[in-house]
Amino acid sequence: MAEQTRLKEEDVQVQLQRFFADMTQKIPLFLFCEPGKNEPFAEGARQIIRAIREITDKVSLQEYTLKHELAKKWQITGSPTLVFAPETYKIRWLGAPLGHEVQTFMEALRIIGTRNPGLSKEAMKVLAKLDSPRAVKVFVSPSCPYCPQAAVNGIRAAVARPDLVSLEIIDIQANPDLADQYAAQSVPQTFANEKQIGLGAQPEELFVASLAALEPQRVFIPDSDAEEISCDLVIVGGGPAGLTAGIYAARSGLQAVVVEKGVLGGQVATTPMVENYPGFTQVGGKTLVDIMVTHALEYVKIFPGEEVQDIVPGELFTVTTTRRRYKARAVLLATGAGNKRLGVEGEERLGGRGVSYCSTCDGPLFKGKKVIMVGGGDSAVTEALHLHNIGVEVTMVHRREGLRAQERLLVTLRQSGIPVLFNSEVVEILGEAGVKAVRLKSNQTGKESTLPVDGVFIAIGYDPAVKLAQGLGAELTPEGYIKKDARHRTTVPGVYSAGDVEGGFKQIVTAAGQGSEAALAIFEDLMNPYWTVQKKR
Ligand code: NAP
Repeated sequence: MAEQTRLKEEDVQVQLQRFFADMTQKIPLFLFCEPGKNEPFAEGARQIIRAIREITDKVSLQEYTLKHELAKKWQITGSPTLVFAPETYKIRWLGAPLGHEVQTFMEALRIIGTRNPGLSKEAMKVLAKLDSPRAVKVFVSPSCPYCPQAAVNGIRAAVARPDLVSLEIIDIQANPDLADQYAAQSVPQTFANEKQIGLGAQPEELFVASLAALEPQRVFIPDSDAEEISCDLVIVGGGPAGLTAGIYAARSGLQAVVVEKGVLGGQVATTPMVENYPGFTQVGGKTLVDIMVTHALEYVKIFPGEEVQDIVPGELFTVTTTRRRYKARAVLLATGAGNKRLGVEGEERLGGRGVSYCSTCDGPLFKGKKVIMVGGGDSAVTEALHLHNIGVEVTMVHRREGLRAQERLLVTLRQSGIPVLFNSEVVEILGEAGVKAVRLKSNQTGKESTLPVDGVFIAIGYDPAVKLAQGLGAELTPEGYIKKDARHRTTVPGVYSAGDVEGGFKQIVTAAGQGSEAALAIFEDLMNPYWTVQKKR
């Protein structure tokens, strides 16, 4: 075991040395810290840079206090602030690259060190047309797996157009005042020229389009000369179902690709702890995802940060994403499900301003504050426990007499002492710039009351992501899931489904099982297409 660990560490060292060897440029870093202010963040930043400098001399570091003339010249007021290669770029980090943000920091070094923004051709076309400055601010948190995608989008744009794009990556935990000023209580959140252009992670093409328009864009269709990839199977969605399908399809000999618009792993990536995936007594959701992705990458090409915009059936399917087109013989929809909304007054308006669907991402900002967790299932209880464990004062609000979560979770909940308001419904979320209170109604007495809170976390289940299926004309079940047969065939020949989008038990292990079944069925069908047999009859 010790020998294995040593070999793994050597492996990482070699990979890191290779990583830095590819860099053509030196990266001067300037760290500004005020003694006694945000010390743990300052020390965190120092430690990671120190560790990197032990591997490479391509990164240099100079540290100053906020009283230094450079701090005044560059108008730096926050401690710690990290400035990257200021001769060439306008990129700053307010806070420290910790947790998930280590990934962003390494990407920043790669992009700056190679002078290669690494943006798609389609995104570069949009940026090339930019003709006025954009001051970008991306609010992130070390606990948020979605944040690296948003922050890296900003870095790529700032490196692609250093003449016009400046960037501040703002860690909300180190800068709660700035987060308050922008009412950014949910991460990631992106602003440009003081306007919000993105809430949540965006594929890079949608980010640059939003940056150009100075308002959030939802659709991006690539130019007709965009790259085209031919394959047997396009798997839409990089959660457990899609990743498992990728492994099984490739092992069957199919050329398959996995396309994922957001973060790989789907809902699992933001699940604080998983305790029922065989082989792991307890594993962090993101860790489980990383293991699955590493495994899948052994077999199948994965294209993250790319959103499927359209699927057109034909002799071959044409799958158009924000980046390119795929021609494929079959399509597997493993699109999962999105967070269900409560549908009450104030929920949408205060989204990102204290209303959250991700306790892993946004929980740390509510440490020592009062929040409610709405819902009574496994998700609500798991997330309430997570909030409680990180020091948030959480109360559960559930519309029934009892919770429906697993007994094991209920025992832990009782032990935690988290209060639960039963038979209570949220009828309105109150507040202007941020959440201030909720209006609750007892569904037994009809009596209404107001509960002052700083945040509202919602975990009331998921709505299946069926837009692409509907666009293809696939039938849905009365509950709104994709209708499929025992072989995961939808009602559209050549189109299959797997995972939460099919309904059913919605467990990680069932999603993985459905992904494998679908891939095997697709392999057999492509060998002997049932739709041509049907046509001949
Ligand atoms: P869920 O099991 O569907 O539970 C949703 C909860 O939200 C229910 O208690 C429901 O109330 C409540 N609800 C739904 N709509 C509501 C509304 N409009 N207003 C107020 N409350 C509302 O969803 P989930 O907890 O997200 O779990 C989804 C799936 O993932 C489940 O299969 C679950 O087992 C699985 N999961 C497993 C784990 C784990 O194993 N550790 C963790 C997370 C999720 P009612 O009870 O009144 O319907």
